[in-house]
Amino acid sequence: MPLTLARQDLLPGLNLIGKHWVPAASGATLDVSDPATDTVFAQVPDSGADDARAAVDAASAAFPAWRKLPSRDRAQILKKWLALITEHVDDLGRLISREQGKPLAEGKGEVMYAASYVEWFSEEAVRTYGDMIPEPAMGRKLMTVKEPVGVVAAITPWNFPAAMIARKIAPALAAGCTVVAKPAEDTPLTSLALVKLAREAGLPDGVLNIVTASRAKTPEVVDVWLADKRVRKVTFTGSTAVGKHLARASADTLKKLSLELGGNAPFIVFDDADIDAAVDGLMVAKFRNGGQTCVSPNRVFVQSGVHAAFVEKLAAKVGALKVGPATDSTSQIGPMINSRAIDKIEAHVKDALAGGAKVVVGGARIRDSERDGPHYYAPTVLDGVTTTMACSCEETFGPVVAVSSFDTEAQVIANANDTPYGLAAYFYSTDIRRVWRVADALESGIVGINEGALAAASAPFGGVKESGYGREGSRYGLDDYMHVKYLCQGQVI
Ligand code: NAD
Repeated sequence: MPLTLARQDLLPGLNLIGKHWVPAASGATLDVSDPATDTVFAQVPDSGADDARAAVDAASAAFPAWRKLPSRDRAQILKKWLALITEHVDDLGRLISREQGKPLAEGKGEVMYAASYVEWFSEEAVRTYGDMIPEPAMGRKLMTVKEPVGVVAAITPWNFPAAMIARKIAPALAAGCTVVAKPAEDTPLTSLALVKLAREAGLPDGVLNIVTASRAKTPEVVDVWLADKRVRKVTFTGSTAVGKHLARASADTLKKLSLELGGNAPFIVFDDADIDAAVDGLMVAKFRNGGQTCVSPNRVFVQSGVHAAFVEKLAAKVGALKVGPATDSTSQIGPMINSRAIDKIEAHVKDALAGGAKVVVGGARIRDSERDGPHYYAPTVLDGVTTTMACSCEETFGPVVAVSSFDTEAQVIANANDTPYGLAAYFYSTDIRRVWRVADALESGIVGINEGALAAASAPFGGVKESGYGREGSRYGLDDYMHVKYLCQGQVI
């Protein structure tokens, strides 16, 4: 079924390089499929090295004028972009749902979440203050100014096609950087629509450039950017494996890097927790986007005194979730993004069962006449999960809750931290001393305390350990796109 929008021109199906919407130099195209049915419904350019180079040429040429523009003027363009995104929330939400598979209400919610970053950075653009530093010797003035780093390469994943690109582009533009962007191969359409709206908001030629590419051609595009000295920063959200590759490959030109990588979030429920609140918090944190989020709880540790009651209440809620296509307004869980994703979920569940875990609810793919597609997985609760199972060691990225039981606080902290990752962690407790102890002890960039919904444009989002570095959103988010220049003036008499 073709995708019909109120503004059909929000589907340009082309790259934006400089002032022109263009096909790939080679003429190659990439098919975009509906994850619900696996059928192709749109095409975008399958770009290569020539397109990548042309994008950097344009971004580099646009940088001197853009960085000199008063920050108030840059902020005004971002505000206009915000207004256009909000105005077109229905079209953008439908685009997200169609190419990514999340239910329409969630798709629209994501648009507003993306908009919140544009709003935040439109406000922060005018607050990139420097310092006056008390002079250490007579006759000198010491000060700092913040400057944009230059051309930024932004590489984004498929799980939040609007939010991930907005929270990279908005701070980059606010800081005075110009951008070359490459969205995920599964979900290029939302990004192209957002870029189209950014141009309508008055963004000058070359300030924002976007090229789309297949998974096979992506390294060709990104390698050009990594090798190019004019690209001063790479901002990436995606898997830790690709993040490490980007860090290694950009070492020769020592680019600034922001890496928002995989997680393996623990969710801990202590005996003294409000169990109903913990179940509700887990439902929100786990099943947003069908479990395909980097802050999704991946390992659920429940203290033995409340374990049975918690699993029973959880299973009742998980079993009631409605799985179906994004087009059905009653759907709560859509299809998984692609066959690689659902194969991984299936392999994790199989591995857990082979190791002795039990299925409490769900536990299999769904394929029936109502959900005519290959990528649906039943919301699942596994119990009796151990620390060595695949679902404990890497993120499942799907609607599977992996529960295990623990006895002591010391034991659960050790287990929670026993992972190379450190993006998000959650715990539920009503003991005020424990709250501070556990919050201190968890090795994680983000900690939810009696709360499952953590993301906010005003809060810093990012990890520690192999979940990466850099922060998105918040007052720290702009610093990643700027460097500090120290000025020292002598002869001040
Ligand atoms: P991925 O890291 O492969 O893809 C993310 C982005 O990186 C996409 O734009 C992709 O085209 C690009 N990419 C892929 N190979 C590249 C390369 N060699 N050089 C440069 N860019 C490259 O993620 P995925 O395969 O789509 O998902 C795999 C796993 O990664 C998931 O199961 C999940 O665990 C994790 N993931 C995390 C996030 C997150 O939000 N942190 C998002 C998506 C996936």
